[in-house]
Amino acid sequence: METLIPTSYFIDLEHEHGAHDYHPLPVVLERGEGVYLWDVEGKKYYDFLSAYSAVNQGHCHPRIVHALKEQASKLTLTSRAFHNNKLGRYMEYVTSYFGFDRLLPSNTGAEAVEAAIKITRKWGYVKKGIPENKAEIIVCSQNFHGRTSTIISFSSDPGSKNHFGPHAQGFITIPYNDIEALESILETHPHIAGFLVEPIQGEAGVYTPDDDFIRRAKALCEEYKVLLMADEIQTGIGRTGALLAVCGNCSCAGHCEQQKETYTRPDVLILGKAISGGTYPVSAVLCDAEVMEVLQPGQHGSTFGGNPMACTVAMEALEVIREEHLTQNARRLGKIFRAKMQAYIDSSSVVLMVRGRGLLNAIVINDTEESDTAWNICMKLKENGLLAKPTHGNIIRFAPPLVMTESQLLECISIITSTLKTFESK
Ligand SMILES: *Cc1c(COP(=O)(O)O)cnc(C)c1O
Repeated sequence: METLIPTSYFIDLEHEHGAHDYHPLPVVLERGEGVYLWDVEGKKYYDFLSAYSAVNQGHCHPRIVHALKEQASKLTLTSRAFHNNKLGRYMEYVTSYFGFDRLLPSNTGAEAVEAAIKITRKWGYVKKGIPENKAEIIVCSQNFHGRTSTIISFSSDPGSKNHFGPHAQGFITIPYNDIEALESILETHPHIAGFLVEPIQGEAGVYTPDDDFIRRAKALCEEYKVLLMADEIQTGIGRTGALLAVCGNCSCAGHCEQQKETYTRPDVLILGKAISGGTYPVSAVLCDAEVMEVLQPGQHGSTFGGNPMACTVAMEALEVIREEHLTQNARRLGKIFRAKMQAYIDSSSVVLMVRGRGLLNAIVINDTEESDTAWNICMKLKENGLLAKPTHGNIIRFAPPLVMTESQLLECISIITSTLKTFESK
């Protein structure tokens, strides 16, 4: 038998040789399959984070892994100096899947947000006639759009922002879910190019806006000739029980009748995370030709963006979402999750509320932002075989892979509620 290397060995190595830019739960994972993860000591867990919703299709999905292996032994990278035989097919597939004309390929979420900002600003100058260097983009407080120096410039989290200045100009912050604030900025500022928004604020603690917030925002954007930029990096691809969170209650991105009422079509759609099922960094910006055409050769680029591995893996990952009905599953299980959690909360003094959509949910712990109660609950959940992480101090996000079954979910709910019970009346 192999001698077991203790968890602390791996943690100490990271601590000694790595940048201290994260504060992970003390668990060292070495294997994953579907909704499960195993640590280096052989302990099995339910994954309730899904790598921040990147692993919607479940860990090491056999179809996605197969596609990745096949492509890896054939061709991995050409750069965009030449064409490859996957990129065009991928672009056709994804634009038709989400109902847009054009796709810009990139690797990480933050890169796609950056590209969306550049496209929107340029559209503002070229198509809207905003004077050079005057374009502004409206963003929401408590947003999370990534970690680049431009993106953190409009973060409201001091930890993300302080001492990383000078910060980028050209962003105006309004409160989330505040349609009046949006309207008053649009009224008073003639040089707005875009409104960048998360349909649900995941990192902030799964803040779920009013049902009509995005729809009304879109109407205002149209009125003032401003692009609605939806960051669906975390909320997209089935997670919220809809293909996109902007879809409302339906799952086919503007492709069906039922959806006409609830679907709000953004002008710029930003995707990442689950577009590859968590096997490879893939992100994208989608928009119509009228907007995308502002980019000309030489004005944007990425060495790895649109590489044949990324294209192959992402097409397979999106097929899995559709063929395994994961969006519908997320919607159905999400309702069960919130109903059962609410039943618990009704007589709980530890948990204040549950909120979310589909399988993107959070519970708010009855304690201050600075308290360590949520962290301690997550440590106890880990002991009991379930991995979750606090988002903002007293909020715990619950986002399992969408391949979960109902009986697995019920087992998880019982782990969660029995763990919470040990924190009651303390
Ligand atoms: C994760 C995330 C990003 C950033 O993606 P990275 O791949 O980490 O750069 C941007 N926006 C949202 C909403 C996210 O959840």
